Amino acid sequence: MLREAPSHRFEARVTLRGRRYLLVDGKGQPTAVWSSRRFHRLQRVQQQAPAALIDDGHRTWWWFEDRIYWEDDGLGAPDVVALVRDRERRRDRKLERAHAALIATASLTRLDGVGTRAARGAIPRETRRAVWERDGGRCVACGATFDLQYDHVIPLALGGSDSVENLQILCAPCNQEKGAAIA
Ligand SMILES: [Zn+2]
Repeated sequence: MLREAPSHRFEARVTLRGRRYLLVDGKGQPTAVWSSRRFHRLQRVQQQAPAALIDDGHRTWWWFEDRIYWEDDGLGAPDVVALVRDRERRRDRKLERAHAALIATASLTRLDGVGTRAARGAIPRETRRAVWERDGGRCVACGATFDLQYDHVIPLALGGSDSVENLQILCAPCNQEKGAAIA
């Protein structure tokens, strides 16, 4: 298990023997000290590969891409890279989902604001999700991934329903084009 230690930081101190760099914990307690030369070497190394900072007998502290981590599994540098990359991938996926949800909500809000939509209430969340997943979060006409809206294949005014089968994702321009064609 690799954990980030966001409250740990480096501090520079000027001593009688020159500048020293300390790794300080969240309470301001120094946990390790390096000479300026060694610190700057570590600083360069950690841009490319995890640098082991200290092993206090329980935990090994790592510095990688300007973040400090600890682990107590006896990991090697390649393990640290793999775990950090895995965290980044998970964070990216989470962000993607959050953005997709935001677009879906924004599109729905826009739809809710016009005509019969507001009167009949929102498309149920489960339906929206099913349509979103089926259409891959893209305009089914042109593949755009922004300015998306839920479109009724058969318009509500013409007797269409809120079923998954009767809904699709269109971007605003494609939706307008379709509206013009129907009218
Ligand atoms: Zn489109």
